[in-house]
Amino acid sequence: MMSKLDRRQFAAGLGAATAATIAVRPFAIAQGAARVVVIGGGPGGATVANHLKKLEPRLDVTLLERRPAFTSCFFSNHYIGGFRSFASITHDYEGLEALGVNVRHGTAAGIDTAKKLVKLESGKQLRYDRLVVAPGIDFKFDGIEGYSEAAAEIMPHAWKGGSQTRLLRRKLEAMPDGGVVVIAPPRNPYRCPPGPYERACVIAHYLKTEKPKSKLVIFDPKMSFSKQPVFEEAYERYYKDIIELNLSNDIDDMSLARVDARTGLVVTKSGAKVTAAVANIVPDQRAGDIAAKAGLVEGDWCPVNPATFMSTMAKGVYVLGDAAIANDMPKSAFSANSQAKVVAADILADLGLEERVAPRYRNTCWSMLAPGDSVKIGATYAPGELNGKPGLVPSESFVSEPGEAGSLRKGNYQESLAWYQALVADVFAKPPKASKAGGPGSEDGG
Ligand SMILES: Cc1cc2nc3c(=O)[nH]c(=O)nc-3n(C[C@H](O)[C@H](O)[C@H](O)COP(=O)(O)OP(=O)(O)OC[C@H]3O[C@@H](n4cnc5c(N)ncnc54)[C@H](O)[C@@H]3O)c2cc1C
Repeated sequence: MMSKLDRRQFAAGLGAATAATIAVRPFAIAQGAARVVVIGGGPGGATVANHLKKLEPRLDVTLLERRPAFTSCFFSNHYIGGFRSFASITHDYEGLEALGVNVRHGTAAGIDTAKKLVKLESGKQLRYDRLVVAPGIDFKFDGIEGYSEAAAEIMPHAWKGGSQTRLLRRKLEAMPDGGVVVIAPPRNPYRCPPGPYERACVIAHYLKTEKPKSKLVIFDPKMSFSKQPVFEEAYERYYKDIIELNLSNDIDDMSLARVDARTGLVVTKSGAKVTAAVANIVPDQRAGDIAAKAGLVEGDWCPVNPATFMSTMAKGVYVLGDAAIANDMPKSAFSANSQAKVVAADILADLGLEERVAPRYRNTCWSMLAPGDSVKIGATYAPGELNGKPGLVPSESFVSEPGEAGSLRKGNYQESLAWYQALVADVFAKPPKASKAGGPGSEDGG
């Protein structure tokens, strides 16, 4: 169990609090009898379960996750590009179970926030005192004619980790040299803003080394994107004759009008056409289905109090990670993990087990441009006023720039590898171990 000082530092968002401002109260509830149910075992939900149980072992913490193991989207581009094994991005829940978290594999089908019940697809129910909803994203499949859940089995989005990730890699391995890969990124907001552009780099690297007559075409509904100057520099420097980037502008709308999964045809709204050997179509996104079913959404995403990530739509319910509205804080695993620590601290405060402390959140997103060349973007966030409303105000922001020294970029790459190992240890309660990156051939995970 953590010492009181550790608990205070943790609650203040990664060691930022002054201990003098905090007094720890004696436990005020029927010690440890409170039940916390967490829906979703990704970096948002699993981190909450892990830290709650570590901070207060007497709490009854249940993690409800539909899948037996978690394949991370973060670093899935490394797998798709051939730099890591599938097993190295796949994680089980044994660490959380060993800690005493009740890990239940099933799907939440509904939430009765008045009766404080989670209803499972199996018909069973889970009672809660506090509920955490961290279901990630689902897709808006109606935006592109011809694209559907079934079409995604031929033209994978690979924007959820697991079979889709593996499918995209297999399609790349199977395509002929001289074929065209199409990447169609989504509109904002979406999971991992730099993700499509990093994916272009790792796929182009694969094509350059294994299928050099091939091309990669990006059809983007947006006019600009995250870390654009460094990505454009990398496309020019490493993948000049491979990547063709088509951004939308005032005249040309590069969002997709229709696709034909049978023939590989991809057509943009401005009339550009390509017959793709591999089409990676990433549809527009929204909060995971259960959030809408439970009445936690406003539009596509879930509004929350920026100081706690408690839902503004239901009492005693927290929403975090990709599903939540977090202003400029990107939908990333780093963000979800950072938000989760604030949520765990707030649950303890809400149950009368700890004093409240001012939260701080952090995010960094690394992207690999080429082996040993990575860039990053990040910031710290605190609750405050944003455009006249309560929101998350960024500070201490940083972003990589074109023309940086190779040694700096190599340092970023090493930092990203260390981050991945530390993050999955912190999310899944695993002992940190050295990176076993492997290659895509050694697939034995989820
Ligand atoms: C290509 C790519 C690269 C990325 N790279 C990075 C990166 O380098 N760094 C970074 O920080 N982030 C990165 N991300 C983003 C990151 O993957 C997500 O932001 C993160 O996974 C969000 O965490 P989450 O817990 O909110 O949701 P998820 O990770 O999606 O977890 C949600 C979990 O909830 C479960 N679930 C959903 N609904 C139910 C239900 N009804 N019942 C039971 N279980 C349910 C799901 O099975 C899932 O396991 C990347 C994403 C992509 C696509």
